[in-house]
Amino acid sequence: MTKSVLFSDCSVPAIGQGTWYMGEESSKRAQEVAALQAGLEQGLKLIDTAEMYAEGGAEEVVGEALRGRRDSAFLVSKVYPWNAGVVDAAEACERSLRRLQTDYLDLYLLHWRGNVPLEETITAMEKLQQAGKIRRWGVSNFDSSDLSELLAEEGGAACTANQVLYHLASRGIEYDLLPECQQQAITVMAYCPLAQAGRLRHDLMTHPVLNDIAQQKSITVAQLLLAWVIRKEGVIAIPKASTVQHVTENAAATAITLDSEELAQINQAFPPPNRKMPLDIV
Ligand code: NDP
Repeated sequence: MTKSVLFSDCSVPAIGQGTWYMGEESSKRAQEVAALQAGLEQGLKLIDTAEMYAEGGAEEVVGEALRGRRDSAFLVSKVYPWNAGVVDAAEACERSLRRLQTDYLDLYLLHWRGNVPLEETITAMEKLQQAGKIRRWGVSNFDSSDLSELLAEEGGAACTANQVLYHLASRGIEYDLLPECQQQAITVMAYCPLAQAGRLRHDLMTHPVLNDIAQQKSITVAQLLLAWVIRKEGVIAIPKASTVQHVTENAAATAITLDSEELAQINQAFPPPNRKMPLDIV
């Protein structure tokens, strides 16, 4: 069965598609568009992008991929912290919409916390919602203390997502942030779920325990990593994949479950946190 998560009123499959580093080289554009479209066709409905990625270039790739099929996607973009005031956010959102060739975002996130007061960003998001430019809003890279401050602000409880780094080699959020988000019905969007962080490679793919489990299940280590991330309620993984083969593997991972013995083996190799850890970021 395909796992899913809820963003307020909307259910979305628990694996989506990232776009960091897309739109940087025109020679790769057709392949990136094809990968995103293949992902949509295979149920990877959520597409995550940002005004930051390739300074708008990734949004343009997404816009091309969505031509004629906008409604089949749950489209997420992010605003730079220095654009998160009422006037600047309206302009930044308009620019994103233009590059994405659409008139609304399903979700708009504050990319990370900056100097604009949270209160003003909430107002900015509310105005964009009222104008029909965005359906929902959320945040990214917010640790527990930031989240508490946000929730204490008037209107802060409307936050529907927190996009944070989460993969097997970085489990800190399990100690406090993840349970807090679950309790508040804030969906956790796990970025770098394959621990790749753009172009940097982590050694998880070659880890012997993970390779053994993957082999026994006839899946790839990447699929194991994704199935592990989405084992928790209210967590969606947003791997970036620029080949149809990777996308196809990732889509199949929405139906992979791990049994208690496999999870115990994984916990032994990658222990869960037993104390508060500061939120990892890239
Ligand atoms: P990921 O952990 O998703 O890794 C991406 C890398 O994994 C790419 O090199 C990709 O290769 C490769 N890959 C994808 N699928 C497979 C597969 N099935 N088997 C083997 N390799 C695979 O890292 P990202 O840093 O891209 O994070 C994911 C997304 O999260 C970003 O694209 C972005 O949308 C978001 N993000 C948000 C941040 C924030 O601050 N809010 C920060 C960082 C990321 P290939 O491209 O060749 O398919």
